[in-house]
Amino acid sequence: MPYPHLLAPLDLGHVTLKNRVLMGSMHVGLEEEGGSYPKMSAYFAARARGGVGLIVTGGVAPNRAGQVKPFASTLNSAREARRHKNVTDAVHAEGGRIALQILHAGRYGYHPWNVAPTRIKSPISPFAPWGLTGAGVRGTIADFVRCAKLAQDAGYDGVEVMGSEGYLVNQFIARHTNKRTDEWGGDYAARIRFPVAIVKGIRDAVGPNFVIIYRLSMLDLVDDGSSWSEVLQLATAIAAAGASILNTGIGWHEARVPTIATMVPRGAFTWVTRRLREAGVVKIPIVTSNRINTPQVAEDVLASGAADMVSLARPFLADPDFVKKAMEDRADDINTCIACNQACLDHVFQNTRATCLVNPQAAYETELVYTKTKSPKRVAVVGAGPAGLSAATVAGECGHAVTLFEAAPAIGGQFDLARRVPGKEEFDETLRYFQRRLTTTGVTVRLGTRVTPDDLVGKFDAVIVATGVGPRAITIPGHDHPKVKGYADVLLGAPVGERVAIIGTGGIGHDVAEFLAEKPEPEPERLGQFLARWGVDYDGWGKAPASTGMKPAEKPDTARSIVMLQRSSAKGGSRLGKTTGWIHRAAMKKHGVEIVPDVTYVRVDDAGLHVLVAGQPRVLDVDTVVVCAGQVSRSELAAPLKAAGLAVHVIGGAEEASELDAKRAIAQGARVAAGL
Ligand code: FAD
Ligand code: NAP
Ligand code: SF4
Repeated sequence: MPYPHLLAPLDLGHVTLKNRVLMGSMHVGLEEEGGSYPKMSAYFAARARGGVGLIVTGGVAPNRAGQVKPFASTLNSAREARRHKNVTDAVHAEGGRIALQILHAGRYGYHPWNVAPTRIKSPISPFAPWGLTGAGVRGTIADFVRCAKLAQDAGYDGVEVMGSEGYLVNQFIARHTNKRTDEWGGDYAARIRFPVAIVKGIRDAVGPNFVIIYRLSMLDLVDDGSSWSEVLQLATAIAAAGASILNTGIGWHEARVPTIATMVPRGAFTWVTRRLREAGVVKIPIVTSNRINTPQVAEDVLASGAADMVSLARPFLADPDFVKKAMEDRADDINTCIACNQACLDHVFQNTRATCLVNPQAAYETELVYTKTKSPKRVAVVGAGPAGLSAATVAGECGHAVTLFEAAPAIGGQFDLARRVPGKEEFDETLRYFQRRLTTTGVTVRLGTRVTPDDLVGKFDAVIVATGVGPRAITIPGHDHPKVKGYADVLLGAPVGERVAIIGTGGIGHDVAEFLAEKPEPEPERLGQFLARWGVDYDGWGKAPASTGMKPAEKPDTARSIVMLQRSSAKGGSRLGKTTGWIHRAAMKKHGVEIVPDVTYVRVDDAGLHVLVAGQPRVLDVDTVVVCAGQVSRSELAAPLKAAGLAVHVIGGAEEASELDAKRAIAQGARVAAGL
């Protein structure tokens, strides 16, 4: 059997899970859907059909004060429980199991009625919380218990108590947020009374044959967070209170350490779970999590004894059939989550429905359907960037006869450049997946073929123009000086001096800065380098009882002196991703990269780059000027094809270069192809 540790069943006493894979909790925005949750039922049913051992739902609040935002879902009435029955029935019909996550946002609630142990405003909500009274604390515990009981009535196989990530339960545990002087505050034993009472209350209410997962913050990564000895004390108490499984939580939302972004090495925090497991204080199964995105990584983690189960969340957005494909030893067919956060977490923060950059069907199972066509067409797709790859493979899956033309010798387009940026190595997986899908969907691929209208007219019924973008050129005097290089040439290995100016502070400007600043690190050193740079106490945690898992961050060794320039006066990098932009900005700071706004470009000559900064002349004495000044569409094929009477669809960067990213390109490609 492939992946013997991953695919081994897990006996929990009253129930046996069919494998060691837990689909971690993710709020996708379907939780607030009206009626009987048809979209959410289809979303979870697809994951159950794909073979996952245990699903955990997105967080549901036990009362109104615990909502993450206004109108967020709650489960506190029999009427609500009846609606949830549709979800549990759909999962059970596919042979799956599902637990409801109970999440009380506490001071992270994005509304004025949020509550906390103490009235201390969080840095991520504009609303200061109300401090809970003693009666309020007891009422909240009762609400958790009622919610769990209602979940049981609704047919859930269990619940997960969200005790990590800095939400209410975590806020009680940490001195950082709990300054109470009554029985719920003070020393650690008093501060953990709240989670222990919740778990005990739930166990008493639901009886022995119901799974209780407790998501335990094993590393808070904030000042005044729990120490190692305190985490041991908490784990022991939670297990004794009746939890069936401990799940790992890493870092509060307000922590300034990346924990799930693509630049976090795979499995970067599994050692945290391992140290708890090795301490031997609990006998119940322990789940590890964060940046586990392939069956092999998961198998290795389990085989190493770090945990009894693995939690994968975003990988189930990317591919609902992750487990099924692993069971069939078809890892190559898995659409791998690249941890970009662009369509999942960023959407949640923007208050729109989450989906997946590499799988636009995620959370749109009933709306974006790839149906076999009854009238196959001859379809040409021009351009094998993300838009063209998506369109060609979906059209192939729908049964059309597809030919994909690409001018370059390899697929990928701009994505082929993106994957060369340090910390974006995961992007390779998307190209590996598309390469495989081109074969399985029967697409004919013509690489190294720059097509003209004559190549297509009369030979195809429809043409999808996915010819993408090219770099925007600068036109100042000296734009053709040997010092000036385009971002594509630089990423492809053109020589660059030690003093560099980058024109443009967009996503590509930041990526190029990281590419040029970073000294390549051998693979085995990457985890150590990552943890040291972000101030995670790998040596102390799990060994020194008083360690809080944090230590002073080490300064990176920087390869070049870099200055980034922009014409606008906005904060540099302000348009980067919601949940990842801060990481890029912090990385720039660590590398000592200067970002200069209010720039007017004057000329380039042997002395360097001449600019005006807020009207004042400045000469940047640099060896190389890299142009990252945005992009322009390349769509010149479209007009002659239309004039020749062909059905033409222009997608991705070819349609619109501004605000373009791979998320839009892939989604548009899929939608256009599905509608052919
Ligand atoms: P392109 O990727 O430009 O592909 C167009 C393709 O068409 C090319 O391969 C080209 O050779 C081919 N072509 C053009 N004309 C012809 C012709 N006549 N005949 C045959 N073939 C032709 N996006 C994100 O979402 N997240 C990121 O983190 C991210 N990081 C990036 C980092 C870098 C360094 C770069 C450069 C880009 C990054 N992007 C990122 C942007 C992303 O790669 C683009 O949005 C995406 O590639 C656009 O896809 P597309 O298919 O529309 O166009
Ligand atoms: P961009 O984000 O639009 O940034 C372009 C930069 O060039 C800006 O800083 C802009 O700043 C500057 N600029 C624009 N016109 C200029 C001109 N004529 N002369 C000089 N400077 C000019 O574009 P990008 O960096 O090329 O990125 C392209 C797309 O790829 C983006 O839309 C992004 O979504 C995607 N991408 C995403 C990521 C990610 O991490 N999610 C990473 C890389 C790329 P001023 O106008 O202020 O000078
Ligand atoms: Fe993973 Fe990106 Fe998809 Fe989110 S959007 S699930 S991070 S690939």
